[in-house]
Amino acid sequence: MPVATIERVETSLVDLPTIRPHKLSVATMYGQTLMLVKIYCSDGVVGIGEGTTIAGMAYGPESPEAMKLSIDTYFAPAMIGQDASSIQALMAHLGKLVKVNHFAKSALETALLDAQGKRLGVPVSELLGGRRRERLPVAWTLASGDTARDIAEAEEMLDRRRHRIFKLKIGAKSPEVDIKHVAEIKKVLGDRGAVRVDVNMAWSETQAAWAIPALADAGCELVEQPVASVAAMTRLMRRFPVALMADEVLQGPESAFEIAKQHGADVFAIKIEQNGGLFAAQRVAAIADAAGIELYGGTMLEGAVSTIASAHLFASFAHLQWGTELFGPLLITEEILTQPLDYSDFALTVPRGPGLGIELDEAKIKRFTREGLTKTTDARH
Ligand SMILES: [Mg+2]
Repeated sequence: MPVATIERVETSLVDLPTIRPHKLSVATMYGQTLMLVKIYCSDGVVGIGEGTTIAGMAYGPESPEAMKLSIDTYFAPAMIGQDASSIQALMAHLGKLVKVNHFAKSALETALLDAQGKRLGVPVSELLGGRRRERLPVAWTLASGDTARDIAEAEEMLDRRRHRIFKLKIGAKSPEVDIKHVAEIKKVLGDRGAVRVDVNMAWSETQAAWAIPALADAGCELVEQPVASVAAMTRLMRRFPVALMADEVLQGPESAFEIAKQHGADVFAIKIEQNGGLFAAQRVAAIADAAGIELYGGTMLEGAVSTIASAHLFASFAHLQWGTELFGPLLITEEILTQPLDYSDFALTVPRGPGLGIELDEAKIKRFTREGLTKTTDARH
């Protein structure tokens, strides 16, 4: 007999405002939608998971609405009555029923791990092999679209000792304008702050070949996904000493193996949602380690639930040479936890409590939940 079976699965959409518009080459975000999933088990334990995208469907193939629909229609009915403790077996079973849908799978796996941790009285990091660090360095993304405003924001973050690694979102403007923007910010920050850029695949290979040396001259230490294809990334890798990071092209262990085989990146930005869950992301990290590729803990600008799920995983990595960008909750105006996360001294503390080690402020969540859409699936479906 299983220790606990899954009795109910509940999904909802929570729309939260952001502190300022967040400008990427693909879109501008004015808010963030969290798809929250709760898994109710027969032993009374409830696990929470989250699925989030960047700017609706502008970044990736799933939307919060699509995740909810796929869970309500396909995943949840297949989960009712299943053993809640056999997480890898259950996820493998669901993987046969539903292809791809990485973000939805990550949300469900997070909820199952949260429940299992609560059941056993251990943090999720322990279910992933145990943490190697308690605190994770957290970068901040400067993406207001205005150089002076970005500099003021960076200065404020340095003053508050919250961030000293800055990622600049570029690629929406011409490379000439972007390079000037990067150079101005790095000149002001000097040694006080590291500067990296994320182009979100906006450049052609020739634009990248022209811009990357200029970025290096400006003091930029890392260029994230300048072009869309792995083949072009591989050619750029041979030409420039500045570190190149793969993000969008990383879509699970098979893609990671292909990129590693082709020498398509110096660094992997690991994201639990993009790779299809925590276990898949863990396998991606193992491939990187074996290939001599360095690691960075990426974000889908997630709210607190998926951010902390990511934190538990990144805390367990053997190497985390480039830190993380787990600042998603700080981009949202509302605190959705009963106990706020500890962002201090340029790092995030990984919670120590059972499961994810966080508790939602249910009254706050309710205020921002999209009406009439919360759906519960149980034995009666
Ligand atoms: Mg990126």
